[in-house]
Amino acid sequence: MGARAFPLFIICGNLWSKRMLNFMSKRSFAKIAALAVFLAGLASASFAAEPPAIRKTLLPPGVHGRLTKRTMMPTYITIHATENPDSTAARHALYLSNKGKRSGKRGRSGWVTWHFTVDDREIVQHLLATEQGDHADFGRKGDRTSIAIEICEFRSAPQQAAAIDRGARLAAALADRFNIPTKNIVPHRHWPRPDFPFGKPCPKILLNRDSNSPDGWRRGVKWKQFLALVDSYR
Ligand SMILES: [Zn+2]
Repeated sequence: MGARAFPLFIICGNLWSKRMLNFMSKRSFAKIAALAVFLAGLASASFAAEPPAIRKTLLPPGVHGRLTKRTMMPTYITIHATENPDSTAARHALYLSNKGKRSGKRGRSGWVTWHFTVDDREIVQHLLATEQGDHADFGRKGDRTSIAIEICEFRSAPQQAAAIDRGARLAAALADRFNIPTKNIVPHRHWPRPDFPFGKPCPKILLNRDSNSPDGWRRGVKWKQFLALVDSYR
């Protein structure tokens, strides 16, 4: 609360002239100042909980793999990255609605669908958070229980950091809304499937290289930092 509390405290301090202080003991002045600091702290706490803005661009029901009858009470959040450098959330939304992404034979619906795409500027939503998508593990537990967030990839480091930050804010807001513990916010890699028995190395931007790991990747310090960022918004 410190930063927000200070200006109010200083204003209060200036208003109290020495003459006024004669009518009021130093002790009661201290009580009023403490109350001001406390109230300013409450105000700043309510700002921190503000959920991020979301632009809804839902796929029409039945189109390109949006199967609205597959309802879900989410217990996990799966984080992906697009591996499509410098392509924005808006472009991914257009791609899903205009053309759609085919999944091949193994896919449950024949299409790849996910819930949210975030970039450095906005969050767009493609499916309701209470519908199942096809993004993780060909219809196994990852698809049946988790909300998918795709984080856009950028060549510019500041843009990439902003997209990751927005992804963390969204994950925190969804986790709060559906009562999901932070430990159930997982990288796509968490869900093994036949073509990736150790889990797909996704999102690579939040995984670390590891020569001792069977596929050369692991959840390391980058993932820890991401979860710490999520927790800072919860
Ligand atoms: Zn993925």
